[in-house]
Amino acid sequence: MKTNLYKWTSRVPIYKIAKLYENDSKGIIDDELINDIGFTIYMRCLEGQEVMDAVHKMRVKCRSCSNIIVRKDKRNHNEVLACQCGWKTTWGHYRQNTLTQNMCNGQAAPFFTKYITKWESAKNSKQKMLFIDWLIHQFHIKDNIPGRAVGTNIISGTKTQVADLIINLSYGNNSIALLKAKREYMKLINNWKKKLIEFLGGNSKARLVGKKLGIENSNRIPLDVLIDKLSEIDKYKLKELLNE
Ligand SMILES: [Zn+2]
Repeated sequence: MKTNLYKWTSRVPIYKIAKLYENDSKGIIDDELINDIGFTIYMRCLEGQEVMDAVHKMRVKCRSCSNIIVRKDKRNHNEVLACQCGWKTTWGHYRQNTLTQNMCNGQAAPFFTKYITKWESAKNSKQKMLFIDWLIHQFHIKDNIPGRAVGTNIISGTKTQVADLIINLSYGNNSIALLKAKREYMKLINNWKKKLIEFLGGNSKARLVGKKLGIENSNRIPLDVLIDKLSEIDKYKLKELLNE
């Protein structure tokens, strides 16, 4: 099936976010860039709601004419979704597509919903900049443990590239964006690392998983570096590996 069958809004390129913060740190307000980025994120959030309706309410919006197609069987991935306009796919293909496109849904859904409201109420570029900055620093939360950064849903790039970008965002004296958001982000990351170690059962267990994964010198490298490497893998998979 054609990949453009779904026509989702593309995520914001990493260089644009870098430019946005570079401007901000110098006190430059580029209305056009702020609008471009903020609106792209807004569209992604709206499309995320569309995906949530499809998953939870069984209502799939045709990606060609916006008609609603009602799914009949929650478990059937082969169910054909056919619209009268000729748009056609299967539920399994639709779902897989939304996952590979990192759509804005899942455990961070409340943040995306909040962004929609914030964006619609924004009165000027300063507010818009603050809302963008706020959303970029949120995380998906599962079992009280922050997981994937929301950044990966709205910025294109690998998980590591996006994390590096967010950590290294520049804030200057004339910045509108709040340095506070960055500090909270770092706090969350550190807290999250601690939680992951707890989840695995302590430092030695974390090192054992590293060893099982074949991470070089996993007994000697700084724990921080090891946890960074482990964070690329789903924590439940790590636990499974421990129990093998
Ligand atoms: Zn249609």
